[in-house]
Amino acid sequence: MEPGQDRNIAALTLNFYVHIFFGEMMNKDFIKVALEEAKIAYKLNEVPVGAVIVKNGKIIAKAHNLKRSTNNIMNHAEIIALMEASQYIGDWRLNECEMYVTLEPCSMCMGALINSRIKKLYIGTEDLKTGACGSVLNLLDYKFNHKIEVEKNILKKECEKILKEFFVFLRKRNKSEKSI
Ligand SMILES: [Zn+2]
Repeated sequence: MEPGQDRNIAALTLNFYVHIFFGEMMNKDFIKVALEEAKIAYKLNEVPVGAVIVKNGKIIAKAHNLKRSTNNIMNHAEIIALMEASQYIGDWRLNECEMYVTLEPCSMCMGALINSRIKKLYIGTEDLKTGACGSVLNLLDYKFNHKIEVEKNILKKECEKILKEFFVFLRKRNKSEKSI
């Protein structure tokens, strides 16, 4: 071993763990902001989904699902966030951006994400009914001209919990409406 090589290895190892540790912290922080957006949707009787777009470590767009209140199927949190981010940077290409979303995107949103050329997608929890990032189908398995890096299960429990609570609330509300 060359003199100082062990020190170099130690420094590299430390660097690696610092990166992992802070990387993790940041991912969780951003998904927490997306969860706050999901809570706003919940209060509006919308399926609670929130999305955040980050560029160079800074949030440039955040949005929540507004499909029901606007009667517009395109107003999923991801689509609104993509439009906000493009407007903010003045470019439809979001190559340098990353999205954090509490629920696995549907096929419409995955299509939009591929079109936006977003770099990376962080997903809170999966959507077994409409998820197009591995649950129902995986749009990323196809030969599109853009590939998105994906990381799943960021604060999965919290992202799952708000959805479960919302559907329990909906079932209770529907029952009480029927009994009137
Ligand atoms: Zn969607």
